[in-house]
Amino acid sequence: MLVCLLLVAWITPDEPEEVAELAHPGERIEQEQEQPTPLPVAAVEEIQVEPTVVAEVQEKEEEVLPCSCNKRVLRLPKNPYTAHQKAARNLPNSFFVKDKNELNAGKSRGKLVDVTDGRGYHIAPLSHSYAMLLPEVKSLLEDMGHAFADQLEGTKSEGTTFRVTSLTRTARQQARLGRRNYNAIDDGSTHSYGASFDIAYTDRPDNEADCSAPTRAIQHVLKSFQESGRILVIPEKNCMHITLRP
Ligand SMILES: [Zn+2]
Repeated sequence: MLVCLLLVAWITPDEPEEVAELAHPGERIEQEQEQPTPLPVAAVEEIQVEPTVVAEVQEKEEEVLPCSCNKRVLRLPKNPYTAHQKAARNLPNSFFVKDKNELNAGKSRGKLVDVTDGRGYHIAPLSHSYAMLLPEVKSLLEDMGHAFADQLEGTKSEGTTFRVTSLTRTARQQARLGRRNYNAIDDGSTHSYGASFDIAYTDRPDNEADCSAPTRAIQHVLKSFQESGRILVIPEKNCMHITLRP
């Protein structure tokens, strides 16, 4: 019986991704390649399994599933999208990245900088954005990465990193993502100002610990940065949308 319950928890399918429920224009998870269904945190936490049973199941399940990081598993207040837009426009280096030429011009002026994997975070393969941010937003990402890694250091979940799935999008890329829920107030995604990035998962190094500690850690980091006034957050169906405040 216990084995059956646990297996059900592991194979529970995720909901299909739908653009129609997006909370602001162009918000959409980028990663479109096949990937394993994220481990449903709540389901696992509710089941008390004897250690011997866990060992048996883990032998069959070598795959390390990602842990979801979205509005279904995290509890954070939503900052209105208009506040995100205002913040994005008012950041010191902010400019509207219309197309690839603007992107390159911004980079040569030092207003956009390349972003690569760092402590506590990694960049997913990107199809609708560039791994670039305003310099001050890159600093924010690095600080959040350190805060996340610090939370898990010395625990079984040490080495878990959060996955950044979207960074700077040109207006052209944004247009290709579609504009459902677009309205007159929205005249540009905050991703097109280099001001925002999305976090969609945390990825564990192995199956030694479940998703509960990484999920608590990312919740803690996002909440403390939001409460201290450094970031604005929109919990999305597939990710957490984060914008730096000026
Ligand atoms: Zn976003």
